[in-house]
Amino acid sequence: MRILLASSEVHPFSKTGGLADVVGALAKSLAAAGHRVGVVSPLYRGVRESFPNIAPAELALIDLPLGGRRVQAQVWTLSAGPHLTYYFIRQENFFERPELYQEQGHDYPDNVDRFTYFSKCVAYLARHLSWQPELVHNNDWQTGLVPLFLRHQSLHDGWTNPPRTVLTIHNLAYQGNFPAATFGLTNLPLTYFHPSAVEYWGGMNFLKTGIVFSDVITTVSPRYAREILTEPFGCGLDGVLRQRQHSVFGILNGVDYEEWQTVNNPFLKQLYSTASLRGKAAGKLELQQELGLPVTARVPLFCTISRLVEQKGVDILLAALTSLLPQHDLQFALLGSGPPQHEAAFAELHRRFPGKVAVHLGFNQGLSHRMEAGGDFFLMPSRFEPCGLNQMYSQRYGTIPIVRITGGLDDSVVDATENAAGATGIKFGDYSAANLAAAITRALELFRNAKLLRQYRLNGMKADFSWERTSEQYLRIYELALGK
Ligand code: ADP
Repeated sequence: MRILLASSEVHPFSKTGGLADVVGALAKSLAAAGHRVGVVSPLYRGVRESFPNIAPAELALIDLPLGGRRVQAQVWTLSAGPHLTYYFIRQENFFERPELYQEQGHDYPDNVDRFTYFSKCVAYLARHLSWQPELVHNNDWQTGLVPLFLRHQSLHDGWTNPPRTVLTIHNLAYQGNFPAATFGLTNLPLTYFHPSAVEYWGGMNFLKTGIVFSDVITTVSPRYAREILTEPFGCGLDGVLRQRQHSVFGILNGVDYEEWQTVNNPFLKQLYSTASLRGKAAGKLELQQELGLPVTARVPLFCTISRLVEQKGVDILLAALTSLLPQHDLQFALLGSGPPQHEAAFAELHRRFPGKVAVHLGFNQGLSHRMEAGGDFFLMPSRFEPCGLNQMYSQRYGTIPIVRITGGLDDSVVDATENAAGATGIKFGDYSAANLAAAITRALELFRNAKLLRQYRLNGMKADFSWERTSEQYLRIYELALGK
């Protein structure tokens, strides 16, 4: 199959969250299975410096209208073997910036220009690449306009065999809503500015456009695929999704085990496997030292690595910890970043409990591996969670996830009440600080039972979330989109 993946971020070149991991790993896995794969993303600041082999490509220059002006971009490429090519859209005004989407909590005001243009470039590549992709797999709102551009060009612009399209929704909460006036940037006829196409409550909605015009829609876990058809999780698009519900599928994300593993990992000094957890115990002590916490095997260490946003359960996490920390012997470590008020709240928690709480604000790939490895438990009390990756990384690292029953968290963690012998984590239901505190209390009990604790760890380490399985499911979706 010939597949062009389009995404605003791709690991290892650019990343703000799980989207980058998923697209990066899916591309590698499909190519390894022998499919022809291209991945298109913007060329952000710093990427060329980190990957000096990226070079200008066959289709060197793109020159496209964007509303009343024309905008030029270069295509740069990096080949990663015979089946996999990365395409980077180099448009310095749009992408040569300190961050991907926003600075200091404020979206770039021209995001609508940036990602309308990016989507036009994706459509251009889909049409002009010599290997002629038969399927374009778009991801999230930033590429939501691509299927519309393909549709329009096939109906009105002499393109007789455009590729089929799949849209994956990694998080329905981010939709790309913009004022009606920005529709002009598409250079499309006004007939598309209609509630059955791009219009949403008088404005423009990129993700809705993708949902309406893609052949198949997927999201990143089976449970989330069901949830988003309902009003509480639908973020205002549940009606649109219900209209397409026979084309909506949930595929649980996989884990890139080449990267997320404990046997051969440049970020970890202490390696370990199911054969022996000694390295994990030693890694915990080193991690405590690195974080400035008291170094002791006796006290359980709870970790969180997260964007500090409402979705991730920041409020109940703070409340549960504030209630438990005064009475219980436990340590908590946070790695994350987000709006100033959330960062300040965790910094305050550290000030109140300096010998029990460590807070590391910022993005740190190496530390995230060491926390996954050195932690005893991993806290993920999300309000909603399309899939979530850290609970799966945790399991491979023998760290026990504590999760709320929602989305992919429910699909990927086994509670003792579901399967006593096969439990991999601790789950709680309704979103409340009291329920989270109760789950943490269960973890404290589990920590005192060395035999059972070890069983949980080993169950998690043996769980299989490999990409081979996930990419098989994507291939079936591609076949569906291609009408095979
Ligand atoms: P989301 O995509 O909603 O942020 P996921 O759990 O799907 O959540 O993926 C988050 C990814 O980003 C994981 O790989 C996680 O380890 C990583 N991550 C989040 N915050 C940080 C941070 N501050 N430092 C390092 N990695 C982080």
